[in-house]
Amino acid sequence: MKLIDLNPDGGIGANSMYLRLGDFHLLIDAGLNPKKSGRQAAPDFRPLQGVQLDLVLLTHCHLDHLGAMPLALRDQPHPPVVMALPSHKLAPRMLHNSASVMEREREEHGTPDYPLYTHEEVDRVAKRFYGHPFGQPRKFTGAHDEIEFTLHSGGHIPGAAGIEIVHKRRRIFITGDVLFAAQRTLPGANFPHHHIDVLITETTRGLNGRALGRGRAEEAIRLVDTINATLRRGGSVLIPVFALGRMQELLAVLHDARKFNRLDDAPIFASGLGLEICHLFDDISRKTNLIHFTRQILKDLKVKTVPRDLVPGKEPPGQGIYVISSGMMVENTPSYALAPGLVRDEKHSICFVGYCDPDTPGGQLLATRPGEEFLFEAVDIRTRIRAPVTRFDLSGHADREELLEYAAMITPHTVVVTHGDASSREWFKERLPSRLPHHSKVLDPAPLQVYPV
Ligand SMILES: [Zn+2]
Ligand SMILES: [Zn+2]
Repeated sequence: MKLIDLNPDGGIGANSMYLRLGDFHLLIDAGLNPKKSGRQAAPDFRPLQGVQLDLVLLTHCHLDHLGAMPLALRDQPHPPVVMALPSHKLAPRMLHNSASVMEREREEHGTPDYPLYTHEEVDRVAKRFYGHPFGQPRKFTGAHDEIEFTLHSGGHIPGAAGIEIVHKRRRIFITGDVLFAAQRTLPGANFPHHHIDVLITETTRGLNGRALGRGRAEEAIRLVDTINATLRRGGSVLIPVFALGRMQELLAVLHDARKFNRLDDAPIFASGLGLEICHLFDDISRKTNLIHFTRQILKDLKVKTVPRDLVPGKEPPGQGIYVISSGMMVENTPSYALAPGLVRDEKHSICFVGYCDPDTPGGQLLATRPGEEFLFEAVDIRTRIRAPVTRFDLSGHADREELLEYAAMITPHTVVVTHGDASSREWFKERLPSRLPHHSKVLDPAPLQVYPV
C-alpha cells in the first residue's frame, strides 16, 4: 500500500488521505482547515493529478473532513463518495452552509478565492453521495482492482464512521474522529476487535489526559452548576460549540438537567445552522435507532435563534445561556462576536466543552489568565479578562489512553498517527511501541510525501 497525507500543514486541518492499494485508488475525506481561509484552507490535491480515483470514502461531516469535497471531485468525474447513512443526510446541508459562509465572507471581507464552490456545484456533487449502513461489508470493484470496505460507527457525531478496508489479505482500519464513551445523543464507537494490519488513528487528545474525577457525568454536573451560579449573579453563559454534534449533545444535557430541576430557568439561544441540524437529527432519530434526539428538546427548552447581527463588544442581547458556534471561537462566528462583550465583566462565564486548537481564538483565550489582556484581533477589541473562562472535559474525542488500548488490542504491524498536533502525535509515538507487537512500526507521515506501508 502507498499512503500520502494531502493535508499540507499536518495536524488537524484540511484532513485528506490518499491510499493506493495495489491498483485501487482511494481517497479518504477532503476537509477544510478551520484556521485558514481561501484556497490555503484546502488539501493539496496535486499528487492526484493523473490519478483516476476509484472511490472516495467519508468518515464524517465535520468540515475539516468534508469541506473540500467539491474541490476534490472537480478533477475526478467518476468516483462515488460513500458515507454512513446519517452522513448522507447531513453532508449536503453542511456543504451548502459552507458555500453560504464563503459567499458572505467575500461580500463582507473581500476574501480572495471565495466562494471555493457554489451552491450549484454542491447540488451536483451531492448526487454522487451514497449512504451505506454500518457493519455491512461491501465489495467495490474499481477500474483495475477491488477492495472490500465496512463502516463501523465511530461515536464522535451521528454518521461518524471508522473505515475497515480489506485488500488482498490485508486489513486496514481508519478510525476517523472517534469517541468510545456513550453520549446522551449517541452510543459510543463500535469498532472491530479482530486483528488489523495497518491502523490509521486520530490523535486529537494526545496532549491532555483526562484528570482524575473528571468523568463525563461529573463534568456535566460541574457545567450545570457553573451555569446556575452565573445566572444567579445576573450574568450570561457562553458555551461555544460545533454546530454539528456538540450543540445537540449540549442541548440534550441541558434538557436532562432541566427535567430534573437542576438547571435554573433562563432563555437558551442557539445558532442557526445548529438548529437546522437539530431538525435533521430528529428526522434521523425517527427513521433509525442510531441516535437519540427529538425536536421536543427544543420545544421544552424554548430554544431561540441567536440574532445574526451580534455586535462584537456589546453586552449580549439578553441574559441567557448561549449555545452557539463555533466551538473554537474562530473569527466571523456568533461565539467570536459575543465573547468580547462577556469576558470583560466578571458576572458572565465562558464554558468550553470540546477540543480547542491552541492557535484558535478559543485556544488562546483558554491560555490567558484572569486579569490579563486579550486581543480580539479580527474586531480590534482589546479587553481585560474578568469573566471566568473554564474548560469542561465533554469532548467528542476519545481519551488518549483509550486509543492506546484500542491499538494494543488489534495488534497492528503499522500504526499511522494523524489528526493531532505535533505534540499530540509525539505522545502517541513515544507510548505506542511498548503496547504493540515486537516488529510494529509507528509512522507519522510528513505532508505530501509518499510512504510505502
Ligand atoms: Zn469531527
Ligand atoms: Zn476532525
